Amino acid sequence: MGRQIYTEEHDIFRAAFKRYLEKEVVPHLEEWEENHEVPREAWKKMGEQGYICPWLEEEYGGSGAGFEYSIIINEEMSRVRANGFSVGLHSDIIAPYINSFGSEEQKAKYLPGAATGDILLAVAMTEPDAGSDLQAIRTRAVKDGDHYVINGQKTFISNGYCCDLAVVACKTDPNAKPAYKGISLILVEAGTPGFNKGRRLQKMGLQIQDTAELYFEDCRVPATNLLGQEGRGFYYLMDKLQQERLIAIIRAQVGAEEMLKLTMDYVKQRHAFGKPIGSFQHNAFKLAEMATEIELGRTFFDDLLADHLEGRNIVKKVSMAKWWIGEMCNRVAYQCLQLHGGYGFMDEYVISKWYRDVRAITIYAGTTEIMKQVIAREMGLL
Ligand SMILES: Cc1cc2nc3c(=O)[nH]c(=O)nc-3n(C[C@H](O)[C@H](O)[C@H](O)COP(=O)(O)OP(=O)(O)OC[C@H]3O[C@@H](n4cnc5c(N)ncnc54)[C@H](O)[C@@H]3O)c2cc1C
Repeated sequence: MGRQIYTEEHDIFRAAFKRYLEKEVVPHLEEWEENHEVPREAWKKMGEQGYICPWLEEEYGGSGAGFEYSIIINEEMSRVRANGFSVGLHSDIIAPYINSFGSEEQKAKYLPGAATGDILLAVAMTEPDAGSDLQAIRTRAVKDGDHYVINGQKTFISNGYCCDLAVVACKTDPNAKPAYKGISLILVEAGTPGFNKGRRLQKMGLQIQDTAELYFEDCRVPATNLLGQEGRGFYYLMDKLQQERLIAIIRAQVGAEEMLKLTMDYVKQRHAFGKPIGSFQHNAFKLAEMATEIELGRTFFDDLLADHLEGRNIVKKVSMAKWWIGEMCNRVAYQCLQLHGGYGFMDEYVISKWYRDVRAITIYAGTTEIMKQVIAREMGLL
């Protein structure tokens, strides 16, 4: 099962990465949160150390390591609440699109820069009028000779403001039936005329991460920027969304574990009515319930991870874990903040930041409701 995935080498890697985070990331988190931005140098340092796209083949600048190393990186970044530094999104969600579906030329052009942190990546699916219902997107890419001309708008795009390259979901055939067969993925470089970045959106949490609107106005890109085949975009997205969900689940699971840890410390030292607040039976039972749910989540996650590493189909199971662990994490956030009393509402108490950060987990990478829809479909009900 899951935990047996890790060898001594993984443990050594984890310990080294934790030291790296303590030195290079944790001391800057507050400043990055205030600026809503992670500086380029921080990305490049990560790249120099081989912490970006470790799974990538050596010829493209990776180290050909197993996906377990990505999991360790994502887990440890979540543990220090550095999720908004979107290394996981860049490395394990977007770069795989180029690696799996890109031409040799596209891979050689973009992957080495992605691994060094010089080419930052975003994936642009969501539009103001189409989120869960992806096949309803309206961004159009019209073939014009050896170019595509793109028009449309995207929103809520993580790394949207800082990205150098965006994987953009476009309609190449608006009349396709079913509609999803008309979706293609096109690579658009920052700086291409007609590709404009809008404002960085103000959010309730994940303050480090830039989340932006993107606009395409008669944006001409070479037809060779098509990723894979025309009309296959939806299939590619559905394929890679499974790993994206796995990364979202790690954040939820680790978030719940960390929130419980810091609340345990708090309830032992905070006194009311002459006793530590954790010793009131109601609170002790709440903590016992949370510990149980967190343990269940960990076991489920590790089992799911083992399935993924063995190449099994995880569509149903990852959807189950995404909604259940995502919701569990939010229950834990609510209860842990409550146990902090008024201090939990104050910014200087980190539980308030956790509470705000984890709220998005049940929304991005497929909402809780959409996950249940996928499971019900897999059960032959819908
Ligand atoms: C922090 C953050 C980062 C993000 N990063 C990215 C990114 O990098 N790239 C990107 O493309 N997108 C990104 N998104 C967008 C995200 O994927 C969408 O917000 C999500 O898919 C939901 O779409 P929506 O917001 O349009 O909500 P809607 O689809 O409008 O849904 C609204 C509500 O209706 C429910 N609902 C919808 N359809 C059904 C149904 N059939 N049955 C039952 N309930 C339903 C939903 O579950 C939800 O509760 C990000 C979002 C956030 C919050």
